[in-house]
Amino acid sequence: MTEEHLQKAEQLLEQSRLRKTRPRLEILCVLLAADSPLTGEQIFDRITPASVDKATVYRTLLLLLRHDIVHHAYLRNRIRHFELAHHCKPDHCHPHFTCRDCGRTVCLYQAVVPAVQNLPAGYLVLHRQTRLEGICPNCRTEGFGDE
Ligand SMILES: [Zn+2]
Ligand SMILES: [Zn+2]
Repeated sequence: MTEEHLQKAEQLLEQSRLRKTRPRLEILCVLLAADSPLTGEQIFDRITPASVDKATVYRTLLLLLRHDIVHHAYLRNRIRHFELAHHCKPDHCHPHFTCRDCGRTVCLYQAVVPAVQNLPAGYLVLHRQTRLEGICPNCRTEGFGDE
Protein backbone atom coordinates (compact mmCIF):
# COMPACT_ATOMS: atom_id res chain seq x y z
CA MET A 1 0.00 0.00 0.00
CA THR A 2 1.75 3.17 -1.15
CA GLU A 3 1.04 6.62 0.21
CA GLU A 4 -0.21 7.73 -3.19
CA HIS A 5 -2.68 4.85 -3.48
CA LEU A 6 -3.87 5.38 0.08
CA GLN A 7 -4.59 9.04 -0.64
CA LYS A 8 -6.49 8.16 -3.81
CA ALA A 9 -8.45 5.44 -1.95
CA GLU A 10 -9.42 7.91 0.78
CA GLN A 11 -10.50 10.40 -1.86
CA LEU A 12 -12.72 7.81 -3.60
CA LEU A 13 -14.46 6.99 -0.31
CA GLU A 14 -14.85 10.67 0.60
CA GLN A 15 -16.48 11.42 -2.75
CA SER A 16 -19.13 8.78 -2.01
CA ARG A 17 -19.41 9.87 1.63
CA LEU A 18 -18.31 6.46 2.85
CA ARG A 19 -16.39 5.90 6.05
CA LYS A 20 -12.71 5.15 5.56
CA THR A 21 -12.55 1.68 7.06
CA ARG A 22 -9.50 -0.54 6.83
CA PRO A 23 -11.06 -3.21 4.54
CA ARG A 24 -12.32 -0.56 2.12
CA LEU A 25 -8.94 1.14 1.96
CA GLU A 26 -7.10 -2.16 1.60
CA ILE A 27 -9.29 -3.32 -1.28
CA LEU A 28 -9.10 0.01 -3.10
CA CYS A 29 -5.32 0.06 -2.78
CA VAL A 30 -5.10 -3.45 -4.24
CA LEU A 31 -7.26 -2.36 -7.18
CA LEU A 32 -5.26 0.84 -7.64
CA ALA A 33 -2.05 -1.18 -7.82
CA ALA A 34 -3.49 -3.78 -10.22
CA ASP A 35 -2.96 -3.41 -13.97
CA SER A 36 -5.98 -5.54 -14.88
CA PRO A 37 -9.27 -6.56 -13.27
CA LEU A 38 -9.08 -9.02 -10.36
CA THR A 39 -11.36 -11.66 -8.90
CA GLY A 40 -12.49 -11.43 -5.28
CA GLU A 41 -10.11 -14.26 -4.54
CA GLN A 42 -7.15 -12.43 -6.08
CA ILE A 43 -8.01 -9.29 -4.18
CA PHE A 44 -8.14 -11.27 -0.96
CA ASP A 45 -4.73 -12.83 -1.70
CA ARG A 46 -3.13 -9.45 -2.33
CA ILE A 47 -4.25 -7.86 0.91
CA THR A 48 -1.24 -7.82 3.18
CA PRO A 49 -1.21 -8.77 5.91
CA ALA A 50 -4.35 -10.88 5.63
CA SER A 51 -6.08 -8.76 8.20
CA VAL A 52 -9.41 -8.86 6.37
CA ASP A 53 -11.38 -12.09 6.02
CA LYS A 54 -12.83 -13.30 2.75
CA ALA A 55 -16.46 -12.63 3.64
CA THR A 56 -15.55 -9.02 4.40
CA VAL A 57 -13.77 -8.69 1.07
CA TYR A 58 -16.89 -9.81 -0.83
CA ARG A 59 -19.24 -7.73 1.32
CA THR A 60 -17.04 -4.67 0.83
CA LEU A 61 -16.87 -5.24 -2.93
CA LEU A 62 -20.68 -5.28 -3.07
CA LEU A 63 -20.80 -1.99 -1.19
CA LEU A 64 -18.20 -0.43 -3.50
CA LEU A 65 -20.18 -1.71 -6.52
CA ARG A 66 -23.36 -0.11 -5.21
CA HIS A 67 -21.57 3.19 -4.90
CA ASP A 68 -20.10 2.91 -8.40
CA ILE A 69 -16.55 3.04 -7.10
CA VAL A 70 -15.91 -0.46 -8.41
CA HIS A 71 -17.30 -2.14 -11.53
CA HIS A 72 -17.72 -5.69 -12.70
CA ALA A 73 -15.23 -5.69 -15.51
CA TYR A 74 -16.25 -9.02 -17.04
CA LEU A 75 -17.01 -12.63 -16.29
CA ARG A 76 -14.48 -15.30 -17.06
CA ASN A 77 -15.10 -18.96 -16.23
CA ARG A 78 -18.20 -17.68 -14.47
CA ILE A 79 -16.03 -15.68 -12.09
CA ARG A 80 -16.60 -11.98 -11.74
CA HIS A 81 -13.63 -9.68 -12.17
CA PHE A 82 -13.60 -6.33 -10.46
CA GLU A 83 -11.86 -3.06 -11.19
CA LEU A 84 -12.05 0.56 -10.20
CA ALA A 85 -14.63 2.54 -12.08
CA HIS A 86 -12.57 5.72 -12.33
CA HIS A 87 -11.48 4.98 -15.92
CA CYS A 88 -15.09 4.48 -17.05
CA LYS A 89 -17.69 6.94 -18.29
CA PRO A 90 -21.12 6.96 -16.62
CA ASP A 91 -22.75 5.22 -19.60
CA HIS A 92 -19.93 3.00 -20.77
CA CYS A 93 -16.85 1.22 -19.52
CA HIS A 94 -13.57 0.99 -21.40
CA PRO A 95 -13.25 -2.17 -23.52
CA HIS A 96 -11.43 -5.28 -22.32
CA PHE A 97 -9.30 -7.40 -24.59
CA THR A 98 -8.74 -11.07 -23.81
CA CYS A 99 -5.92 -12.91 -25.56
CA ARG A 100 -6.88 -16.39 -26.78
CA ASP A 101 -3.30 -17.59 -26.48
CA CYS A 102 -2.10 -16.43 -23.08
CA GLY A 103 -5.52 -15.76 -21.56
CA ARG A 104 -4.53 -12.35 -20.25
CA THR A 105 -7.17 -9.65 -20.21
CA VAL A 106 -6.10 -6.03 -20.51
CA CYS A 107 -7.93 -2.74 -20.11
CA LEU A 108 -7.99 -0.68 -23.28
CA TYR A 109 -8.42 2.82 -21.90
CA GLN A 110 -7.71 4.54 -25.22
CA ALA A 111 -9.83 2.37 -27.51
CA VAL A 112 -13.12 3.89 -28.60
CA VAL A 113 -16.14 1.69 -29.25
CA PRO A 114 -18.86 3.42 -31.27
CA ALA A 115 -22.44 3.44 -30.03
CA VAL A 116 -24.74 0.62 -31.15
CA GLN A 117 -26.26 1.21 -34.58
CA ASN A 118 -29.72 0.16 -35.76
CA LEU A 119 -31.06 -0.54 -32.30
CA PRO A 120 -34.71 -1.67 -32.58
CA ALA A 121 -37.26 0.96 -31.60
CA GLY A 122 -38.17 1.20 -27.95
CA TYR A 123 -34.85 0.09 -26.47
CA LEU A 124 -32.99 2.49 -24.25
CA VAL A 125 -29.32 1.69 -23.60
CA LEU A 126 -28.13 2.77 -20.17
CA HIS A 127 -24.74 1.18 -20.08
CA ARG A 128 -22.28 -0.34 -22.52
CA GLN A 129 -19.52 -2.81 -21.85
CA THR A 130 -17.36 -4.33 -24.54
CA ARG A 131 -15.26 -7.47 -24.47
CA LEU A 132 -12.89 -8.12 -27.31
CA GLU A 133 -11.12 -11.39 -28.04
CA GLY A 134 -8.04 -11.95 -30.13
CA ILE A 135 -4.27 -12.28 -29.94
CA CYS A 136 -2.24 -9.84 -27.87
CA PRO A 137 0.96 -8.19 -29.22
CA ASN A 138 3.18 -10.47 -27.08
CA CYS A 139 1.65 -13.65 -28.43
CA ARG A 140 1.67 -12.33 -31.99
CA THR A 141 5.42 -11.69 -31.85
CA GLU A 142 6.07 -15.13 -30.37
CA GLY A 143 3.94 -16.77 -33.04
CA PHE A 144 5.86 -15.04 -35.80
CA GLY A 145 9.13 -16.25 -34.28
CA ASP A 146 8.04 -19.90 -34.44
CA GLU A 147 7.09 -19.86 -38.07
ZN1 LIG B 1 -1.39 -13.22 -25.34
ZN1 LIG C 1 -10.61 -2.42 -17.27
